[in-house]
Amino acid sequence: MSFSIKRRKLIKAGAASVLVASAATVFLESKNAKKLNNVKFDGNANTTTPIPDKTFEHELAVKDNLQKVKFFNQTFSDDLFLTKEKYTIFQQALKRILRVQKVIGYANFNLVSFDDMILYSNRFPQIGRFTKEELALIDELFFYDANKYGFYGSKVIKDLTSKVSKKETVKIAGSGHYLFYGDALTKFNQLKKDVGPDLILTSGVRSVVKQLQLFLAKLDESKGNLSLASRSLAPPGHSYHGIGDFDVGKKGFGKLNFTAEFSSTDEYKKLIELKYVDLRYTKDNQVGVRYEPWHIKVV
Ligand SMILES: [Zn+2]
Repeated sequence: MSFSIKRRKLIKAGAASVLVASAATVFLESKNAKKLNNVKFDGNANTTTPIPDKTFEHELAVKDNLQKVKFFNQTFSDDLFLTKEKYTIFQQALKRILRVQKVIGYANFNLVSFDDMILYSNRFPQIGRFTKEELALIDELFFYDANKYGFYGSKVIKDLTSKVSKKETVKIAGSGHYLFYGDALTKFNQLKKDVGPDLILTSGVRSVVKQLQLFLAKLDESKGNLSLASRSLAPPGHSYHGIGDFDVGKKGFGKLNFTAEFSSTDEYKKLIELKYVDLRYTKDNQVGVRYEPWHIKVV
């Protein structure tokens, strides 16, 4: 009990520290000065140099955003990074979160809440308690304004400790994933009927913690580049997986299900023709996320 009171205090302290952090830019640093790896623009993006009027500026911003969505895996000059000091703490936190996943299992982890994650870490020595610094960093990441590093989607879950009620979800056999009863489940079942048995669920309901783990793993791959990570994955609190959306794939297609390759499958071709199917992240989305032909909009 005393722990949860303490932690809530810490959360508050963390939220306050975000203000300090953003003012002093200790949380993020732009790597403008550092070498960029292969920033490439296609075609004539660099060939026009008139002084832009307002409309033109807007067009440039849209074009810039679309370039980033297209070349989501490259580094751009205005990308924002974790500071070195935070990077070390972040890696410790990620490792600890992965240990939680190992202890409670992949499927259970999809629904785990922040409070439960803390309880598990306190109970199981093989996980180990989260340090104050790790909790402060998680808090900071959750409450930081993602727009500042180029993610323009909505924050659909505003509470770090929000819980998914297991009763509202159903585990989809053979997938290790859950769907919310209601629109999500109805849509998935209809899709299976209309597309065929090779259509599988590759990711369903994700708690804030699950999204946090995925985002941190992406941040690890991107060497602390928050902008780059957020072009592939919504930051925690910003994922519609938390409130209904889900991902589909083709049986046996493995990791390719999460690449543009998925759009070459018969399953994709069939599903995109269905009137009731909408993709969350289209090729020309203004949210700042790569094209995701596998992500079905439910909400
Ligand atoms: Zn998705």
